[in-house]
Amino acid sequence: MQGKGIMRRGSNLHALGGFNQTVVLDTIRRTPEGLSRVEIAEQTGLSAQTVSNVSRRLLDAGVIREAGIRNLGVGKPRTILQLDPSGHYSIGVHIDPAVLTFVLLNIEGEILTHTTRRTPSAADPGAVISLMRDSIEEIILSSGIDRERVLGVGIASPGPIDMARGVVMDPPLLTSWHGVALRDELETATGLFVLLEKDVTAAAVGELWKSTGSDRDDFLYFYYGTGVGVGLVLDREVVRGPTSNAGDAGHIVVDPTGPVCRCGRRGCLGDAISPVTIVRSAIDRGVIEDPGAELDTAFIDEAFSRVALLARGGDDRALGLIDNIARDVAEAIVTIVNLLDLDQVVLGGPYWGRVSDFLLARMPELINGSAALATLRRVSVTGSRIGDDGAAVGAACLVLDATLTPRSATLFIS
Ligand SMILES: [Zn+2]
Repeated sequence: MQGKGIMRRGSNLHALGGFNQTVVLDTIRRTPEGLSRVEIAEQTGLSAQTVSNVSRRLLDAGVIREAGIRNLGVGKPRTILQLDPSGHYSIGVHIDPAVLTFVLLNIEGEILTHTTRRTPSAADPGAVISLMRDSIEEIILSSGIDRERVLGVGIASPGPIDMARGVVMDPPLLTSWHGVALRDELETATGLFVLLEKDVTAAAVGELWKSTGSDRDDFLYFYYGTGVGVGLVLDREVVRGPTSNAGDAGHIVVDPTGPVCRCGRRGCLGDAISPVTIVRSAIDRGVIEDPGAELDTAFIDEAFSRVALLARGGDDRALGLIDNIARDVAEAIVTIVNLLDLDQVVLGGPYWGRVSDFLLARMPELINGSAALATLRRVSVTGSRIGDDGAAVGAACLVLDATLTPRSATLFIS
């Protein structure tokens, strides 16, 4: 019987070599200590012959390695197979209107390097693409890895995106971006394989990649960045929707008496908790000083950190502002978990880390104490296992996934 916690099973009947390969790889990935061909066959339902053939291809391609012999006392000693961490690498880039995050992963999903750059203030796409290209080259050079072993670059971008064409459409928070062909332009600039994914989806993928067991098969990932959104994972599959733009939670009304949103309604979540709103409220309430100038992204980023620091020092007004974030997010989350019967919530994103302790302390009671909550089980609320880099890591994981599936894998598995 197939159910939660049981590995995805392969199919001998349809002889889907590519699919079987993905199944075998997935099984090996989820067992960091390694496992034998016999165990892979048991866990996947594939025949011994299929597992043997697939393993051979993966060994030849340098994706996995033989890592010693396990002797169980009975039967033949078994060779242990593991991912080869030095075999291949991928790069992830996350574009937040305030900050660009870059990570380099090995094939096990381990983060080898991490760097951030402030997003060029004009947010001119050309300037952002140049900075991305330079940063990517710098990462490859400074890490000393063989460029040939970089499988590609994954970009996590604010939506909406046109995934098929690799185009960033009109992200509300990047006002000078209209139909930017980001994937092709970065591919031309770097000569590397590039893929584009929506930021919240990438972040959820990263979280899924980091959960090796069956503890996170279904969850809602709440993304707190310059914008907000949710990534949805159901039965270990990330939900993209027909146009890959699922997860827009910005217009869920959380405060019917709140300020008017650009959509015309009052008290939309995206508006209510956006870092700029929090910083404006902090200025209005005298928590921080009015800079006497327009609030640019650099100021907002720094001022948001100051508000969090003041709250940590016990400042009541700062604590009040952060408590409002907890209330508003909890309100929206109740709506979504009710809709999908979820009982796991993961919180992350670039602005999450600075207020994580407050939100983790408050949100479980706010969600589970809500009169509107309809789920039978208690909703667990946890922080991201990756932290602020979640979307960049997820984007890099997607490159690993895309490259290890048959379509792209044939590029290097001949
Ligand atoms: Zn709205």
